[in-house]
Amino acid sequence: MDSPKSNDSTNSGLRDSTSKANDEEQDELCPGFRNADAFVKYGLGAVLSATKASASLPQTGDEDDFYRSFPGFREFCESQGDKLLHCMSQIMQHHGCRSHLRDQSKLTGLEERFDLVVDSNDVILERVGILLDEADGVNRTQQPVLPAGFQPPKIVVSSWNRMVGSRSRSETFRLLHAKNVARPQLKFKEKVDNSNTPFIPKIFIKPNATKPLSSYFTNKQIRKQRPEDLDVPAALADLIHQQRTQEHVEDMFAHPYQYELDHFTVPEGLLSKPEPQMYKPISKTKCSFIDSLEDLVALNEKLCKLSEFAVDLEHHNYRSFLGLTCLMQISTREEDFIVDTIELRSELYILNEAFTDPAIVKVFHGADSDIDWLQRDLGLYVVNLFDTHQASRALNLARHSLDHLLKHFCTVDTDKRYQLADWRIRPLPEEMVQYARTDTHYLPYIYDCVRAQLLDFNHGQPGLLQSVWNKSRDISLKKYVKPIFTEESYLELQRKQKRSLNTQQLTAFRLLFAWRDKLARQEDESTGFTLPTHMMNKISEELPREPQGIIACCNPVPPLVRQQVNELHLLVQQAREMPLLKAEIVVPMTKGLTTIKKPEVTMFGPHDTSRVSESDLHHCSRDEMPVKQGMLFSEDEEEMDVSVRNTSGLVATAKITQFEVDLETPNDQDSHSVAQMKARRIIESFENPFRMYLPSSGVHISKNAKFDQSSKIYEISKRWKLQSIEQQQKELEAKREAKRKSKEEERKQAKQSYQESLQDVATVRQQAAESAKGDVKKRERVASEVGELTPKPSKKLLKSAEKPEKKEPPPQDDFNPFDYSQSDLKVFAGRHHKNAKGQKSSSGPGNRSMSYMAGKSERGVRQNWPKR
Ligand code: AMP
Ligand code: MN
Ligand code: ZN
Repeated sequence: MDSPKSNDSTNSGLRDSTSKANDEEQDELCPGFRNADAFVKYGLGAVLSATKASASLPQTGDEDDFYRSFPGFREFCESQGDKLLHCMSQIMQHHGCRSHLRDQSKLTGLEERFDLVVDSNDVILERVGILLDEADGVNRTQQPVLPAGFQPPKIVVSSWNRMVGSRSRSETFRLLHAKNVARPQLKFKEKVDNSNTPFIPKIFIKPNATKPLSSYFTNKQIRKQRPEDLDVPAALADLIHQQRTQEHVEDMFAHPYQYELDHFTVPEGLLSKPEPQMYKPISKTKCSFIDSLEDLVALNEKLCKLSEFAVDLEHHNYRSFLGLTCLMQISTREEDFIVDTIELRSELYILNEAFTDPAIVKVFHGADSDIDWLQRDLGLYVVNLFDTHQASRALNLARHSLDHLLKHFCTVDTDKRYQLADWRIRPLPEEMVQYARTDTHYLPYIYDCVRAQLLDFNHGQPGLLQSVWNKSRDISLKKYVKPIFTEESYLELQRKQKRSLNTQQLTAFRLLFAWRDKLARQEDESTGFTLPTHMMNKISEELPREPQGIIACCNPVPPLVRQQVNELHLLVQQAREMPLLKAEIVVPMTKGLTTIKKPEVTMFGPHDTSRVSESDLHHCSRDEMPVKQGMLFSEDEEEMDVSVRNTSGLVATAKITQFEVDLETPNDQDSHSVAQMKARRIIESFENPFRMYLPSSGVHISKNAKFDQSSKIYEISKRWKLQSIEQQQKELEAKREAKRKSKEEERKQAKQSYQESLQDVATVRQQAAESAKGDVKKRERVASEVGELTPKPSKKLLKSAEKPEKKEPPPQDDFNPFDYSQSDLKVFAGRHHKNAKGQKSSSGPGNRSMSYMAGKSERGVRQNWPKR
């Protein structure tokens, strides 16, 4: 903004002209000023101080991030920013330039705003030039003066405020390092749950079910209930809540489509050799950006008619604790769709209708993460997945990446430059849209090709192809597991580092690790953004004495580290207070063990002697440690990572007895040496990491855990695992008995909750209708559907109701799926039942609706119903 000053000719010209105009026009030109000169002087002074002030603002990037982490600063900046934008728009409007700088709703990106400013500067400076020329006696008025905003952009008077370097270059840079992306989390309807509790599926309605969804998910009351809501004393409320939670634990952590996936069989036709159907060139393929509920509903209906479509996701994990699904690409044989999974996050569950339909193949490439992300953010599940990555493996291709498949089958070269782009950016730049669609566009064709090859490979036998489907099913059976912080999480990371730390360093590492985890969850940032591991290592190795030393360990300094440097300093101090001991003592493993080779004692790092007195070192000999000896990892062996045990160099099983040290006995303090006392403090600072596995009577709950609701729940879920098998079986028996008795009751409830969930969907559709303002026709269509009060059974429903005798009766083992064909299905009746290209028959497995029809159970008939 300061560059006009550098343009000497313009400035001197400006001064000349103003001094000339001085005498005649001073009154109108600059009211409040003695003359034009005074006005110009004042103006320049104002510009200069504004420039100075803006230059001394925190630099974009880390410094700015740091300041912005203070709400006061952020608010001030925002209000000042708004003022400035308002001022700028006024100036631009005054000059007749296009200006919608403050129009937030249009989501004009920074780039677009910047362009507007550049254009306006061009216009204004051009006008100044014309006026100066005029004043100089050069007449340019013969040239037509174009209306403002239509000025030809060829006059590059203001090239100074264009971005440096070639445009495409700077743009690529911006795309990959976008620093100005608004946090999408802010507009999520349902806030992100970073609490230290296990993930519970988001699903609340289960289309294509052969086994209905557990009441835990369909009944909002059960789900939302908290101990505080119970009208009894707190301690009792906790107990009741724990017990109620326990009742649902099995359902809470089950895969909602486990039953359907266990009983999934690949439709016969898909195991015979296909004739690959060539993809349409990208340039001739329609691509739709889906960011409204109405379009999403329409997309779902389109997908429900197909026999296959391809799916991919784009993800962001730097500025979020758990990660965010930013985009979903869907390609049919005809069209590409880019779904804004940020905008439609709470609505995407609608696609479960197509995603869990066993008659529709969902083609993914390398679906492992996608399956997690779909569950975590969108409540989506996949039944009938075909993973082309698994196909590539089965075919033994040279490489198994998507680029390779594209090269191999489609002779398409891809540019993976955008893979790590910041996919939160909105509006999505065209290049990124193009990149995103190539991830799915060719997949349906590749799906054909690999199927044909898998059959050829196996001399026409479907075994190999079937194995790919099985592997894909295993992937779709994956359950998302939330990262859980436990007292020993830091050790896992520490072990990977392959560095040996002394007790002080290890303590620092443990404290920093806990600080980082807590803050990252709280601020919804990744641990990598909060404090990268290599910086955490450096701090814990160096144990800086001053806060400044912590800053010095980090380059660049993470904003949250800068903000909380004093807290961090206290943690490091706390660690420094630990007696300096060999780290081996931390996990005693002497008695009853055969160590292959005594690990080298490298626990005293080069920095250490400064931190410990000679006498301390002297007293800290291993033999003197007041530690009971024992074995590591005994009962919970199967829970432990094998590699973990290997790294300890152990050959025998062991058990931690560290925590059995009788800390309660008031000790004859005098009889202990300084070192022994210090060692005692260490022991006290440790907690049995296996406390959650102990019988509840003697559970030792740490102070932290007491205040951490989440850890309690975590314990419950863990404790459930520990119930003796016997007890579990007894309970199961009792449950089964009770279930048999309450079958009738359950049916009623299921029906009711299903009706409720249907009503939820109706509300969503109403929302869609609402959102379709301006499109009256569409609105009418949706609204009329919602408003359909008379049940209008679909062809499908009629069919299944017409000939129920033909179907084998549903198995009676444990429960009866309720025949919802009898029930009132307003919402989904009469939609998407056309036969698309005769690909599917209306009575085959292609039948689908959001109901559990009798017809649906035929898939289950071939199998046994599950033992519950
Ligand atoms: P893709 O399936 O290749 O489209 O990748 C999906 C998402 O995974 C991307 O949006 C990235 O967030 C993430 N991702 C893919 N490849 C990498 C990689 N090499 N390193 C880190 N993240 C990756
Ligand atoms: Mn992918
Ligand atoms: Zn992708």
